Amino acid sequence: MESSPEAMPQPPSGRYLLRTFGCQMNEHDSERIAGLLEADGMTPVTDAADAQIVVFNTCAIRENADNKLYGNLGHLRPLKMANPDLRIVVAGCLAQKDQGKIQERAPWVDVVIGTHALPELLDLIQRAAEDGPQMDVREYTEIFPSALPAARESAFKAWVSIAVGCDNSCSFCIVPLVRGPQKSRPIGDVLAEVQGLARTGVTEVTLLGQNVNTYGRDMTVPGSARRPLFADLLRAVNEVEDIRRIRFTSPHPHDFTPDVIEAMAESSRVCEHIHFPLQSGSDAVLKAMRRSYRSQRYLGWLEQIRAAIPEIAVSTDIIVGFPGETDEDFEETMRVVEQARFDAAFMFQYSPRPGTTAGTMEDQVPKEQVQQRFDRLVALQEQISRACNEALIGARQELLIEAGGKGGLQGRTRGNKLVHFDHAGDLTPGMFVDARITGAEAHYLKGDLVREAASVR
Ligand code: SF4
Repeated sequence: MESSPEAMPQPPSGRYLLRTFGCQMNEHDSERIAGLLEADGMTPVTDAADAQIVVFNTCAIRENADNKLYGNLGHLRPLKMANPDLRIVVAGCLAQKDQGKIQERAPWVDVVIGTHALPELLDLIQRAAEDGPQMDVREYTEIFPSALPAARESAFKAWVSIAVGCDNSCSFCIVPLVRGPQKSRPIGDVLAEVQGLARTGVTEVTLLGQNVNTYGRDMTVPGSARRPLFADLLRAVNEVEDIRRIRFTSPHPHDFTPDVIEAMAESSRVCEHIHFPLQSGSDAVLKAMRRSYRSQRYLGWLEQIRAAIPEIAVSTDIIVGFPGETDEDFEETMRVVEQARFDAAFMFQYSPRPGTTAGTMEDQVPKEQVQQRFDRLVALQEQISRACNEALIGARQELLIEAGGKGGLQGRTRGNKLVHFDHAGDLTPGMFVDARITGAEAHYLKGDLVREAASVR
């Protein structure tokens, strides 16, 4: 039944403040939250005192995430007391995990909205104004956040969600609990979004999912037994005119099948970079983490990827001090890191996260020991990153200019490395230039512009 325009809820208009915590998935959702509010005539502000709506898009993965949230909510309480029309919204993974507890602990919160309910945001805000506190923590995604209007951070780069949720059960991870089982987005919808983005001037897209390479396993195509798989999706996106760079994050090593490697190698717009999370080099720890591969297999996959795409840059995630990790286990991680020669690594000290299996495991490693191991790993990885970067000195690299800084510009290579170079003429973010690499540090490169007309696009 359709409702008449008079019956449609009219959310408040004015100004909003949005704070985002956590990963790319949350940043992507925040672009949608901002898009919904702005489509409703609201404008962003940076100070809660100027806002009529404050939204915290929360993360349940980071340490002390809940303490930080309640601290932030506590700061808003006097504002809410002074202005009962202020609407306070808690969205994201902590909202999905803690549900009713949030309004129990902070009764001045108007709306708790989980990860699957974003399309209901304006409606919930309106209902909170009329009927008091609201909560929607439904368990299943019906409308992909990507289908909602977006207020994007960048005019030339965009995230495109291809799947939400995850069917794995890594023992340190809260994602399956707060994002649910994997649900893939129809390939036609993904392509339509990428084509629409290209029309607005976007040249780089990052395909986003918790485990991108199992894309499509939960779907069937009408009239066909075959499901659209990640390799097919990469090839299809590679055909979209005016998209010059395609990235994706994150794959699970176990599902990184030869057809995906082939599709990457054959698709000229797919960048030569892969994020390939190792987590630990110890087979005993990988087992306890419920990661479905072992270190030798991981190194074997890496070899296959490098054989097919020799110039590929590889980054990874590593957790140090997982419960039960012995000195020998940690030495295994050091050994695998030395062999794998990662260009970059995101390294984390393990800390128990409520709601995860590992959070209640015995044998938690003492903090001091974790710190010592972590410092050794960081020192080793910095040395490797610097050596990988030094190997690029003298090479010509295509850069997408991302930002301007003091007296210089910053661009990113196809291998996802940041390059600083001197400002020249009227170059602006979003342009492509070529640079010759002249220097290398562990976390960035230095370059000189190649001064040929054809090097600026
Ligand atoms: S594959 Fe990634 S998202 Fe899924 S449970 Fe493991 S760490 Fe979490």
